[in-house]
Amino acid sequence: MERVIVASQNRGKIREIGEILAKFGMETVARDDAGIPPFEVEETGETFEENSYLKAKAIFDIAHTITIADDSGIEVDALDGRPGVYSARYAGEGCTPADNNRLLLEQLQGVPEEKRTGRFVSVITMLFPDGWVLTARGEVEGHILTELRGEGGFGYDPLFLPDGETESFGEMSPEAKNRISHRGKALCRLEEMIRERHLSMDTV
Ligand code: IMP
Repeated sequence: MERVIVASQNRGKIREIGEILAKFGMETVARDDAGIPPFEVEETGETFEENSYLKAKAIFDIAHTITIADDSGIEVDALDGRPGVYSARYAGEGCTPADNNRLLLEQLQGVPEEKRTGRFVSVITMLFPDGWVLTARGEVEGHILTELRGEGGFGYDPLFLPDGETESFGEMSPEAKNRISHRGKALCRLEEMIRERHLSMDTV
């Protein structure tokens, strides 16, 4: 069975990725479980694509096996796309998700509803030892709320109302969120790309 190392510690992400790769007879292993010592990858890129690649490549250079990584964040139009690639540490080094949400609300104070548009973005990179690189992007459009709604999810979820929905990501069940989320869409696209690759290699 082909082994794929996921450059993440987030169990939810690892499970979602694992379910898709299992369809192709691939076994997903978290970085920690693959015996790779913990280290911080410097996310020096200016795009989700660059950072996603940097994370995957750092593991690939150690493990020399199929590697997968994702980079994600929220882009707010009224803030010229910020927090963007800085989403995780928007309120500064060592900040909590609550700090990030507070800062975002502060920066959007007085911005009317129609201008509070934005999107979550997820980019997944998969590297193969034969040099193949797959990059899959998923986005979900929505509005930034004026107050936190819901206890579920993580990060900016309680502030994000996806277009066409009545519940914020923080109020939705994980299944409902995954069906429409940026990461869910990127994973669907990745699945299509792996299928195309397998077909072209005549292995499925
Ligand atoms: P990453 O782990 O470097 O990709 O950082 C992603 C950051 O973007 C997280 O720490 C969150 O702040 C934010 N983010 C990404 N995806 C989501 C999501 O699905 N819900 C809420 N926040 C998210």
